[in-house]
Amino acid sequence: MSEVIIPPTATATRTLYIESYGCAMNFSDSEIIASIMGEHGFTSTNDELNADVIFLNTCAIRDNAEQRIRERLKHLRGNKKHNKELIIGVLGCMAERLKEKLLEEEKLVDIVAGPDSYRELPKLVAEVDDGGRAINVLLSREETYGDINPVRLHSNGITAFVSIMRGCDNMCTFCVVPFTRGRERSREPESIVKEILELSKNGYKEVTLLGQNVNSYLWFGGGPKKEFKKLTPEEQETSVDFADLLEMCALSVPLMRIRYSTSHPRDINEKVVHTMVKYNNLCNYIHLPAQSGNTRILDIMSRNYSREWYMDKIRMIRNIIPDCGISCDIISGFCTETEEEHKDTLSLIEWANFEFSYMYIYSERPGTPAAKKLADDVPDDVKSRRLSEIIALQNGKSRQKNESYIGKVVTVLIEGHSKKSNLDWKGRSDQNSVTIFPCESYQPGDLVNVLVERSTTTAMIGKAIGYASL
Ligand code: SAM
Ligand code: SF4
Repeated sequence: MSEVIIPPTATATRTLYIESYGCAMNFSDSEIIASIMGEHGFTSTNDELNADVIFLNTCAIRDNAEQRIRERLKHLRGNKKHNKELIIGVLGCMAERLKEKLLEEEKLVDIVAGPDSYRELPKLVAEVDDGGRAINVLLSREETYGDINPVRLHSNGITAFVSIMRGCDNMCTFCVVPFTRGRERSREPESIVKEILELSKNGYKEVTLLGQNVNSYLWFGGGPKKEFKKLTPEEQETSVDFADLLEMCALSVPLMRIRYSTSHPRDINEKVVHTMVKYNNLCNYIHLPAQSGNTRILDIMSRNYSREWYMDKIRMIRNIIPDCGISCDIISGFCTETEEEHKDTLSLIEWANFEFSYMYIYSERPGTPAAKKLADDVPDDVKSRRLSEIIALQNGKSRQKNESYIGKVVTVLIEGHSKKSNLDWKGRSDQNSVTIFPCESYQPGDLVNVLVERSTTTAMIGKAIGYASL
């Protein structure tokens, strides 16, 4: 969670405070919102008690994400007492999921706005100024906010997110995203490259290209991806896929590191991995969520791949890039999961040697195919115990992985001070592993070679031995 700083504009008359919750996509969206509001007379404040407008940019992926927002709203009652004119908006996935219900249930909320209606926010604020409450949860087939130059919020000035697509067409049965973010659509490549060039001009050294399923990126003039098959073969021929986009980005900013997230195991392909090999500035790192290591569970999750398919994708990646960092997402205790099936997830983690994983307990989301058709029948205590086993195994693997770099040299982009000491820098290796070392005369934004001397579960610790180049 973080609050948002909007640089003051000449005409700024009101103050805005935003908090972002959930995934990187939301943090990136808050930068778009900041830009839109900045154009309409809003300046920022870090001080929520002095804000004219408070936006919560929310997540709906698990129930506990929504409960956090409900708690936060309870707190904001005090702010409204302090300032009767205060406008409170709930934006993003929770707004889209609950729609009018949110206005009914949370009386202090004035604005409810879904992820495709951010251009309307100034108008929604004006409606509230006129004495009403305002809602816009329309999902769009085309909106990518491609023309909006995001305001970089609380940025370290070194790394930035660039959104390349919106929505998702995959319909994994557990997931609320297709309902809250709508149809998959890709952003025009030229606008992506323009944004990256602008970042480079402003001194940024690394971008992460963002989407729910980046390997499915496809530009053919705009609109929903599902329209692609209606094009003529000649029209299809001129489309830009994810590997093409990566190449365009790599060539346009050769001195900038480029990462991407998230990859779906169904769509990652050799063309993308070969493109990563071709350009030194494309980082050797792939986030490839498996969700489960059992084929029956993957099947009822509608992930459209089997355990073997997933393992083949890892083999393919490591064949082409032997030292590629790979991370994973795992869900524990999905509907009907047996003990044996849980053990398959453990054995996949054991086999795959992920750098790290994000690990979750299954949380049933109303309206999803799983909520409608499958029994959420794994008891809570079993889900928790299985999650603990998954975390313990993965932590051991992460520790071993970091240990395996002791005595080796890794290339690290310095992002800022380490959490624990102002005498140390923190950065990430090519494989996206956190690396810590004494500052000496190096500066944030420098790319340095670090000799790894020690390690923990979450980091490698060492000493810089000189500047590196891409
Ligand atoms: N599009 C990405 C993919 O398919 O890999 C994932 C996006 S989702 C925002 C991030 C992660 O949240 C998923 O990979 C999944 O592990 C987790 N997740 C999604 N729905 C969930 C649910 N109902 N309960 C628990 N975890 C969930
Ligand atoms: Fe959700 Fe699946 Fe789409 Fe990822 S790919 S956002 S898990 S539906």
